[in-house]
Amino acid sequence: MPVQKSIVILGLGLTGGAVAKYCAERLGTTVSSVTVIGGAASKPGKLSCELENLGCTVKLGTEQIEGHFDLAVVSPGISEFSGFFAEAEAHADEVIGEPEFAYRQSPEHWVAITGTNGKTTTTSLSTALLHAAGMKAEAVGNIGTIITGRLDERPADSWFVAELSSFQLATTKKLHPHVAVLLNITPDHLEWHKTLENYAAAKEKIFQNLTKDDLAIISVDDDYSRAICERVAARGIRVCELTVQTEPDTPYAAFLRGSELIVRRAGEEQHICTQDELSIRGLHNVENALAASALALELHVGLDAIRSGLSTFKPLEHRIEPCGEVNGVHFVNDSKATNTDSVQKALTAFKPGHIILLLGGHDKETPLTDLACDVAKDVRVAVCYGAAGPRIAEALQNEHSDTLTVVEKPHMHEAFDKAVAVAKSGDTVLLSPACSSFDEFHNMAERGRAFKSYVADLIAKTRE
Ligand code: ADP
Repeated sequence: MPVQKSIVILGLGLTGGAVAKYCAERLGTTVSSVTVIGGAASKPGKLSCELENLGCTVKLGTEQIEGHFDLAVVSPGISEFSGFFAEAEAHADEVIGEPEFAYRQSPEHWVAITGTNGKTTTTSLSTALLHAAGMKAEAVGNIGTIITGRLDERPADSWFVAELSSFQLATTKKLHPHVAVLLNITPDHLEWHKTLENYAAAKEKIFQNLTKDDLAIISVDDDYSRAICERVAARGIRVCELTVQTEPDTPYAAFLRGSELIVRRAGEEQHICTQDELSIRGLHNVENALAASALALELHVGLDAIRSGLSTFKPLEHRIEPCGEVNGVHFVNDSKATNTDSVQKALTAFKPGHIILLLGGHDKETPLTDLACDVAKDVRVAVCYGAAGPRIAEALQNEHSDTLTVVEKPHMHEAFDKAVAVAKSGDTVLLSPACSSFDEFHNMAERGRAFKSYVADLIAKTRE
């Protein structure tokens, strides 16, 4: 008879729901009780009724926990510095997040990917490369698939390619992927982690259980990632240095020589392809492709499969997604660029001097100096809009550039109309807003779809 555990689940969203269902199915075997604490804003609904019918105790409209539990599983939206999280610590022997929970149920065949930007692209691309080699693999985690929800259908020989956010990593303990990737660390999510140091420490946890049999793929192109790279290497773990800026001299590395993508393994170089053979654009996507290739090689994927996967991979929605052309002007939706670094990277995908950039949205109050410098260098017209519009416009004007025109508009639609009015044949109108969308939209996907609908309307109008 296995030990039965009492489980409390914090949060009643998709994650809480999936964990609760999984546990409820095990009531009487490995689980003795399942309690769900919905959170202050939670209200009765279909999911809470369903869980009650499955035998869970559901408490709604509260963040107070009563009683004591063997294990607490916390949803990713709950900060480890919140009162709700502290309640879990006070009322449970152990507090973990959902990926850690899923890992403990099914610990074989995991690879994991984190970073401030590029997680979803690299996770999808890595999965595509494994598929190109005929392997079973599923992209899971922060990419939008709750890992616990996939456990029951998981074939024994299938790889989980897990995209993990800093929130999810903050609550991991035993999670041990065979390959772990850190793409970059730049300022983001400081409202959740409080400091950049906490944020970086959460990301570093992806490597905490790696041993000498595993591979860590770590960027050396920013200071925080480089420091982590040094610490992981000092533990004697094989570290593949990931960079698009230099050529490392380490036995394991993934880098660019001229326009050629190269992965070095145990001192031996594998020439993957050239930059123009990739189906996705921009230097950041070279970094993502290098990381995915190094990961795939570690799982014994052959070079032919890697090349075919890299050349056929389609850009994901809202990530430098081409969405039409009118009179020689190209329109590109990069709504997923919710921070300054991702915009700086997006600019590398287009011809300098021919970019009309839409910037703005909910102000995350991140520093704008580096962004402004790159925008002044590459962009012809920047149209700033939304809540953050005035602050961004001011930062751009402070660059005193002769080649950049800065315009302010109240909302994204007016900003789009202005961009269309100033664009000339050969230009790209790029939505890469550097902000989250909450001042005007529910989320970045709604914003991206709105942008695409403006483009579709414009195309329809020009055909009339
Ligand atoms: P994430 O899942 O980490 O948010 P995505 O792959 O969805 O990453 O990309 C988010 C945004 O970051 C997009 O605007 C994309 O163009 C940009 N981006 C993608 N890869 C990188 C990278 N390696 N470095 C910086 N920015 C990137």
